[in-house]
Amino acid sequence: MKEINIKPRAETIIFLGPPGSGKDTQAEFLVEKLGFQLISSGKLIRLRAEHDDELHDILKKGDLVPNNIIDDEIISIFALLPDEQPVILDGYPRTLEQAKKLDLILSENNRKLDKVIYINVPDKDLINRIKKRRVCSSCQKFTMDKFEACPYCGGKLTQRNDDTPETLKNRLKVFHQNTKPVIEYFKERRVLLEVDGSPSIDRVKESIRRLF
Ligand SMILES: [Zn+2]
Repeated sequence: MKEINIKPRAETIIFLGPPGSGKDTQAEFLVEKLGFQLISSGKLIRLRAEHDDELHDILKKGDLVPNNIIDDEIISIFALLPDEQPVILDGYPRTLEQAKKLDLILSENNRKLDKVIYINVPDKDLINRIKKRRVCSSCQKFTMDKFEACPYCGGKLTQRNDDTPETLKNRLKVFHQNTKPVIEYFKERRVLLEVDGSPSIDRVKESIRRLF
């Protein structure tokens, strides 16, 4: 048999999940274990807002960040990434329009979408979870109310202002409205992998690990 020597192409994957699904923790795990680089649209936007007054005001008011601003950030970051760097996208694409746009961005960067990992958690579980969720005021990591201090750095734990069942219900409504067509789109393209996000963090981690 002839041996074919092809340089493995760097994987590009998307993490999808409702707010509070633990997708940040799970994405971090892949960064640590498999060398992925995490591209978080939320983080990119917050960084840009530091030197973009207009955007700073949008965030301050809690208004929706225009799609084209997010698209621009994603385009710029892919232009900077080496071809061999595996990537996880978090928080992008949020709409069907962006999902189609991402295909273009990837093909311009000699990439293709390999997997879309959808961490599915029922709304009622998420609402129960948010009541217990705490954030560390030093390292910003999320944890639960069973800890007295941050288990990662010992920092002070607080409840985020927007962590109330009411605001979560609103965010979930927006999430489902936007994401449903995105999920359908990826399902049709046979790249969607659904993971049950209800069990413990470690069990979800194991389910995700098995996808690689
Ligand atoms: Zn901490």
